[in-house]
Amino acid sequence: MKVEAIPAKQGEHHLHNYEDIAANFDWTEVEKEFSWYESGKVNMAYEAIDRHAESYRKNKVALYYKDQSRNESYTFYEMKRMTNRAANLLKSHSELEKGDRMFIFMPRSPELYFAMFGALKMGLIVGPLFEAFMEGAIYDRLDDSDAKAIITTPELLPRVPFDRLPHLKTVFLVGEEIEENDHTVDFMKHLHGASDKFEIEWLDKEDGLVLHYTSGSTGKPKGVLHAQYAMVQQYQTGKWVLDLQEEDIYWCTADPGWVTGTAYGVFAPWLTGTTTVILGGRFSPDGWYKAIEDFGVTVWYSAPTAFRMLMGAGDALVKEYDLSTLRHVLSVGEPLNPEVVRWGVQVFDKRIHDTWWMTETGAQTICNYPSMAIKPGSMGKPVPGIKVAIVDDQGNELAPNQMGNLAIEKGWPSMMRQIWNNPSKYESYFLNDKWYVSGDSAYMDEEGYFWFQGRVDDVIMTSGERVGPFEVESKLLEHPAVAEAGVIGKPDPVRGEIIKAFVALNAGHEPSEELVQDIQQFVKKGLAAHAAPKEIEFKDKLPKTRSGKIMRRVLKAWELDLPTGDLSTMED
Ligand code: ATP
Ligand code: MG
Repeated sequence: MKVEAIPAKQGEHHLHNYEDIAANFDWTEVEKEFSWYESGKVNMAYEAIDRHAESYRKNKVALYYKDQSRNESYTFYEMKRMTNRAANLLKSHSELEKGDRMFIFMPRSPELYFAMFGALKMGLIVGPLFEAFMEGAIYDRLDDSDAKAIITTPELLPRVPFDRLPHLKTVFLVGEEIEENDHTVDFMKHLHGASDKFEIEWLDKEDGLVLHYTSGSTGKPKGVLHAQYAMVQQYQTGKWVLDLQEEDIYWCTADPGWVTGTAYGVFAPWLTGTTTVILGGRFSPDGWYKAIEDFGVTVWYSAPTAFRMLMGAGDALVKEYDLSTLRHVLSVGEPLNPEVVRWGVQVFDKRIHDTWWMTETGAQTICNYPSMAIKPGSMGKPVPGIKVAIVDDQGNELAPNQMGNLAIEKGWPSMMRQIWNNPSKYESYFLNDKWYVSGDSAYMDEEGYFWFQGRVDDVIMTSGERVGPFEVESKLLEHPAVAEAGVIGKPDPVRGEIIKAFVALNAGHEPSEELVQDIQQFVKKGLAAHAAPKEIEFKDKLPKTRSGKIMRRVLKAWELDLPTGDLSTMED
């Protein structure tokens, strides 16, 4: 597929010359920027908060928080004090010790971040959960990880099956007039009384940081453990990829229940001392544009599903807001369709920079950088210092333009350290003790750009041709009637598989046999005859994870009448 590359705009960027920097980059250079390089004693909360509170950034705003009822800001100094209070509270009202797992299960609020960083100051491993999880999902994750504590709200408490979780000893409740008992602690009551001085628990760089369960797009979520050392890559990508500068106002729209919401919601921006916006409440196009205008957001990190919804809300709406502060826009979580990239240029005059990574990689891995030309539809190039390749099932590197397994050479800084409770699952990711095999299918072009094709299991074999669902979905999205599309392979006695597309329509379009044929023709002409969906089924909406990923396995299970598997992460 021939695409028109969008050139970079001139400007000062941390990663000013990709090829030069990538040619010989050594991560120890980054380690030297941290206080623990010599002492060996590390704590994420110190690097992200206290270090700045003790510097010229003391009175710089660390956090802007806004939802329907609150509009608050906290400087790095105030964050230091509030997280110290939270740490004292957690410590004095529980038996929690270094390395214990504490889960966070509540809507976004400043208290969520006080608790998260308070727990980190104590040396706990933090497990963030989506507030929408139901009892089964909570039980699975707390049981799997032997969690000792959880912080939640009275509204969500009924979903925490305390009696069935023998390791769970303490529930911290964030709310009003909490009735305390021997395992329930009123968080707000004790927060304000707690001392704002705290001795940080110094850790080894290999000690645990966060335990994130994956999104569950392809199966039962896995508990991915990251070490403190992940901060090296999170910090450096905060500079190279987010391109964060001292004056930036940064907004990452991801919920902390998803790895993007921790690694890039707070860790990367705060490691680099950047002011961060957190917006509570639900997605709304007006609310989001207004947030950019009100806070003067300069760097904005979101996801394809959100950009597609904003696209659907219409270009006229964009003009009602002053979005002129925006300097750098990025996306993660799903393939970013070329159509969306072109839309970004058209309405924001900004290139949307796709970034590829996954819970297991702990930080951004393949990205588009502000100083580099973007080829719409491509994930970009590997982060300098990380070797990425396309390999076959034996681990041989494939030549450019050949579709294969997207693999990363083992040992990048923020690599997961464990799949909790499941060493054999962990081992199963690695091939020849050299390659981490991602489960995604891709190819690399002659210029070293990587192109996502689909999950390996989703790649379709039709009449002897390998078709990546992403290409078909992206073409479908260019059709004026199509708002969203999910494509699967459906077993067929003659062709091996046929392509079936599930399509949600834009407002003003109705399902019809003519429309089916029109869409089929559109893909045939624009892509290839063999890539046109033989079957199209219209849906009001597609099944998605809470992080906004289309769940093709659910579409497939519906289609083939198979069990749908774990649905804990599916949105309502
Ligand atoms: P599970 O592992 O439980 O099935 P998941 O893989 O969706 O869920 P995450 O770790 O949140 O869980 O997502 C990582 C996956 O998301 C990647 O493997 C890839 O398939 C997809 N992804 C992320 N970013 C991109 C991107 N920029 N382009 C294409 N795909 C992406
Ligand atoms: Mg995965």
